[in-house]
Amino acid sequence: MSVSVFAFTCGDLDYLESTVKLSANSELPVRVFTQKGESKRGFYALEVIKESLPIIEQKFGVAFPLPKLDLVALPFLSDGGVENWSVIQILNEHVLTPGWDVTELKLKETKSRIKNIVVHELVHMYVGDYITFDSFDYTWFNEAFATFMASAILADLGHENLWLEKTISDIVNLKRAQSLKETKPIFVSHVSTDSTQSTLEKEAYEKGIYLTRMLGNLFSENGVPNDNFDNLFKAIDPQTQQTPI
Ligand SMILES: [Zn+2]
Repeated sequence: MSVSVFAFTCGDLDYLESTVKLSANSELPVRVFTQKGESKRGFYALEVIKESLPIIEQKFGVAFPLPKLDLVALPFLSDGGVENWSVIQILNEHVLTPGWDVTELKLKETKSRIKNIVVHELVHMYVGDYITFDSFDYTWFNEAFATFMASAILADLGHENLWLEKTISDIVNLKRAQSLKETKPIFVSHVSTDSTQSTLEKEAYEKGIYLTRMLGNLFSENGVPNDNFDNLFKAIDPQTQQTPI
């Protein structure tokens, strides 16, 4: 395991536990840890894991590589979420549903945010952790790929028009950023590694999502872009590739 994705968590924690049925007829233990007394707020995140992990495994065609999966909700963290291998750590407000009364709209928005971040981190269990990159110069791609694939999975799970809505919300800022003189190219070598944030430019990450979408569409059946990226996902198999991505 790469040391950059190794972690442990110490604390007085509660957890919810379940299992997920995966390809090798295995029942993978999955747990969501929270601070004491907060475990009920992790129920939705646990449901998202149970729903999406089998799909991610099936899309890659590679059995989940570890014997358990834990997600830990923390009150503070230098990043919003960290994809430590099978000890995913995410800030409370990004992964727990409110423990108080909120409007239906607010709850819907919260659940959408939880779904996006949890599926993003689950994708990292493969790309970012099982396959790691040999330099932090590729953090932009690691992050862009995770969001790209999470979007593809959420679209499969019934979020119709996801790509259209995403493009409409992102395009203005993306175009603006590209017109600025100080905006750097998508790939920059010898990035600063002072912190996770300094290893990638926000613009490179956002542009990377659409670049990967374009690449994925080149793998479509009959060459017709249809936002079905299954052929691309199947090509990312560390067992059969001589040169990992
Ligand atoms: Zn990420």
